[in-house]
Amino acid sequence: MAMANCDGSSSFTIIPEDEVAEEELLSEYYGSGSGWVEALTSCDHLNSLSSQLSQIPTPDTPCNKCHNLVENWLCLCCKEVLCSRFVNKHMLEHYQEQNHCLALSFSDLSVWCFSCNAYLDAQVIVELRPVYETAYRMKFGEMPPVRSSSGSGNDVEGSSAS
Ligand SMILES: [Zn+2]
Ligand SMILES: [Zn+2]
Ligand SMILES: [Zn+2]
Repeated sequence: MAMANCDGSSSFTIIPEDEVAEEELLSEYYGSGSGWVEALTSCDHLNSLSSQLSQIPTPDTPCNKCHNLVENWLCLCCKEVLCSRFVNKHMLEHYQEQNHCLALSFSDLSVWCFSCNAYLDAQVIVELRPVYETAYRMKFGEMPPVRSSSGSGNDVEGSSAS
């Protein structure tokens, strides 16, 4: 093979192999036990919540844009169902286009605020609890386990210490 190339073209097509970082992100996302980031108990963007969150799409609703079936998010501002950043990033795009920053994950029912760049504690934040419970009921067929909430009298009932 003769190099009949008069060094005019730039033939540099070296793709860096450090795309591994994305896999680390993935495992961080799924490993909800360790590496779990603390969820916020307040957020300045709750006024953008839809007022009709008593009726939401079911957790098996596909992405509105690409019809992907898993890893979808529910936009809590307009109730659109869109896929995660690990699929086709449609929820992220939606945030960038519409500035709808609040989303509920249909895979683990966590609530994410894109503007705060943080998870929100849907069981503590009063505005989020109803939609969290609705989604939980649809996904698991029962009410979410009640977490120790302040104010409602700590009656120790089932203490069966013999
Ligand atoms: Zn999608
Ligand atoms: Zn939206
Ligand atoms: Zn926020």
